[in-house]
Amino acid sequence: MKKLLSLTIALLLLMSGCAADSSPVSADIFAMDTYMNVRVWGSRADEAAKAAEAEIHRLDSLLSISSSGGELYAANRDGAAQLSAETAGVLRAALTAQELTGGAFDPTMLPLMELWGFTTGEYAVPDDAELSSALALTGRGRVTLEGERVSLAEGTQLDFGGIAKGYASDRVIDLMRSMGAESAIVTLGGNVQTLGSKPGGEAWRIAIRDPEDAAENLGVVSVRDMAVVTSGGYERYFEADGKSYHHIIDPATGRPAESGLVSVTIICSEGITADILSTALFVMGLEASTEFWRSGAYSFEAILLDDAGELWVTEGIADSFETARKTNIIES
Ligand code: AMP
Ligand code: MG
Repeated sequence: MKKLLSLTIALLLLMSGCAADSSPVSADIFAMDTYMNVRVWGSRADEAAKAAEAEIHRLDSLLSISSSGGELYAANRDGAAQLSAETAGVLRAALTAQELTGGAFDPTMLPLMELWGFTTGEYAVPDDAELSSALALTGRGRVTLEGERVSLAEGTQLDFGGIAKGYASDRVIDLMRSMGAESAIVTLGGNVQTLGSKPGGEAWRIAIRDPEDAAENLGVVSVRDMAVVTSGGYERYFEADGKSYHHIIDPATGRPAESGLVSVTIICSEGITADILSTALFVMGLEASTEFWRSGAYSFEAILLDDAGELWVTEGIADSFETARKTNIIES
């Protein structure tokens, strides 16, 4: 009888311990044009979730092209601006990536985004003359960053749409860590970033969406302390004359990238790098992406889906990726 009682007490203690561990504080946020969710576990989880929400809104204003109090807005309006160290840091990461990706990642795509109607929702397929005038305002060498002072060549406009969510998830994860959180997961549109492991120590299992069918997955990747960022044409697009036009622009043509890749997932420790590279590799296509991965310019793993439905997975993540599809391993 005594034994049974102590067993029951032990069980109850275990269960209450589990309950405290396994119920996160969750916050839903709409910012940066997308639905976001933060889930955090730990003794200060409530406070951490609130801080995360405030941080996301702060970064949205700071880095958005449309918020009149923001630094990017001011730079685009005036052609030059004194930036904060933080904004200058994000811009420096973007300009470095532009160099390292041979221009595939380009933070000056705004005139083209406007031309195609992605900034207003008034979509239109531009003609060649319109494309070449907009293209002339974009590309390498048109942004000068000296210390924290940026200046833009005539007509050039900055857009952090391909990088801001990744930077924001880095900041949110840092914030959670500094507040003592043991486990956290943030989902900002197609960007996911994790802190630690799931409560209990297992890896996080992140499903990657099938671009053809929102209800289906390409597979599931298991990670700890990693960002998992996906770019796909399905995220934002319009249809005209039976053709679909999406929001990731090939800086070489000014048109939606048609590289043969339809979904690119990057797995790496930094959200900002994952975000940059998901956009860049989507533009580069399979062959250039493979070379780029092998070059070691950045340390990351990738899961690529081509337009024939085949998956290509870099060898460092292959064992942590479960899928029903045929996969090809990219070896170093
Ligand atoms: P993502 O969803 O991270 O792939 O980023 C796509 C967003 O980045 C677009 O909505 C644009 O704001 C911007 N963008 C489009 N094309 C490019 C590009 N080639 N390089 C960098 N940013 C881009
Ligand atoms: Mg991106």
